[in-house]
Amino acid sequence: MPNYDVVVIGAGLVGLATARALLSARDGLGLCVLEAEEHVATHQSGNNSGVIHSGLYYRPGSLKAETCARGREAMFAYCREKNITHERCGKVVVATDAAQVPALEELERRGRANGLTGIERLGPEGIRDHEPHAAGVEGLFVPETGIADYRAVARGYAGDVTAAGGDVRLRQAAGEIRRESDGFVVATPAGEVRARHLVNCAGVQADRVARRAGLEPGARIIPFRGEYKHLAPGRRKLVRNLIYPVPDARFPFLGVHFTRGTAGEIEAGPNAVLATHRHGYRWRDVSLRDVGTMLAFPGFWRMSARYWRTGFGETWRSLSHGAFTRALQTLLPGLQASDLTPGGAGVRAQAVDPDGSLVDDFRITRGPRAFHVLCAPSPAATASLAIGEHLAREAADHFGFPRERNGAPS
Ligand SMILES: Cc1cc2nc3c(=O)[nH]c(=O)nc-3n(C[C@H](O)[C@H](O)[C@H](O)COP(=O)(O)OP(=O)(O)OC[C@H]3O[C@@H](n4cnc5c(N)ncnc54)[C@H](O)[C@@H]3O)c2cc1C
Repeated sequence: MPNYDVVVIGAGLVGLATARALLSARDGLGLCVLEAEEHVATHQSGNNSGVIHSGLYYRPGSLKAETCARGREAMFAYCREKNITHERCGKVVVATDAAQVPALEELERRGRANGLTGIERLGPEGIRDHEPHAAGVEGLFVPETGIADYRAVARGYAGDVTAAGGDVRLRQAAGEIRRESDGFVVATPAGEVRARHLVNCAGVQADRVARRAGLEPGARIIPFRGEYKHLAPGRRKLVRNLIYPVPDARFPFLGVHFTRGTAGEIEAGPNAVLATHRHGYRWRDVSLRDVGTMLAFPGFWRMSARYWRTGFGETWRSLSHGAFTRALQTLLPGLQASDLTPGGAGVRAQAVDPDGSLVDDFRITRGPRAFHVLCAPSPAATASLAIGEHLAREAADHFGFPRERNGAPS
């Protein structure tokens, strides 16, 4: 039975970044990453908007704000170093009517409090200078925002892990987890893996893995599918870079936007539709187990009672091409329904507390000899290197690892 110091469950950006930070902080660490799928970054990390977020939205002082600021610059540096396609192209946030201006001002205040020094306030002319086809009464230009090929980033992280002596084991879903006095025994299709410590970065399955490892997380993961459309190649000229609406402070992850991908494609979306499968990339994906878990969780009903109106709006925009188009036309009036072709989808792992509230900040909980990343939604791709370093520092304390090595995370 292979014997490790640490087993990391999940080879998304967060799990891999954590593994590489742990390895770089301690010589000779025996570490293994278990990944259920055939490739790294199969779920959220490989199906997102590809944006290196600036940190504009997050409550100053929150873990999101702090790790996004550090992670953003680390991500730009990592992409440069590894020759991964990326660009610091900036983004425009557009207030489409006067009622949104106070929220836009609040966004600017938050951005400045989070250390963004390049923000420019735009009038209608200024918006058009950046994005000639966008329309709004006022806007912000945030030059710190960028785009990156996150699948390539994840492959880069996996290469770093193996180069530092760690194992990345694909097609090795962690099943039952047995706790013993000196660690964990994790069942996988290839046999049992023994480790003294466990780090749970299982994304949409994180609550289940936590329970199996002996922690009742309280929150449950509710999956929300984010669907995209593409601008038809002949209409890509409508968007230069990234165009975002002013978010509703209660649901900062909502609001369809336009993003240019690193291959030049323009994506429109995503919406947020309740998914009936934790890997529910299509309407027809249904898991009775996942639906059952959801319905048995009181927090799901409390969330539904609170947010049903918003939920219906998102569902309607998923089912109606016209409604999806109209939402986008508020930012880009010249857009036609025929400009949009079907795109991909990603499934967000949204943690919900038993009282029905959506967990807003990143949530990392300590369990016996373990860390559980129970909530790492956007901007966790951007922030992944900083989250990894944060966990490696915490491990020094919780796992009793030495605090630093050669100036590595301390
Ligand atoms: C639609 C969408 C758009 C987004 N846009 C952006 C963006 O533009 N910028 C940004 O910064 N962030 C964005 N995000 C958020 C970002 O993608 C995620 O926060 C981040 O990828 C989370 O990484 P992760 O490693 O925690 O999760 P994941 O990438 O989901 O990885 C978890 C991994 O765990 C594995 N796993 C699960 N259970 C087991 C098990 N039992 N055994 C072994 N392996 C297991 C899974 O197969 C998976 O590979 C977006 C997310 C979505 C869904």
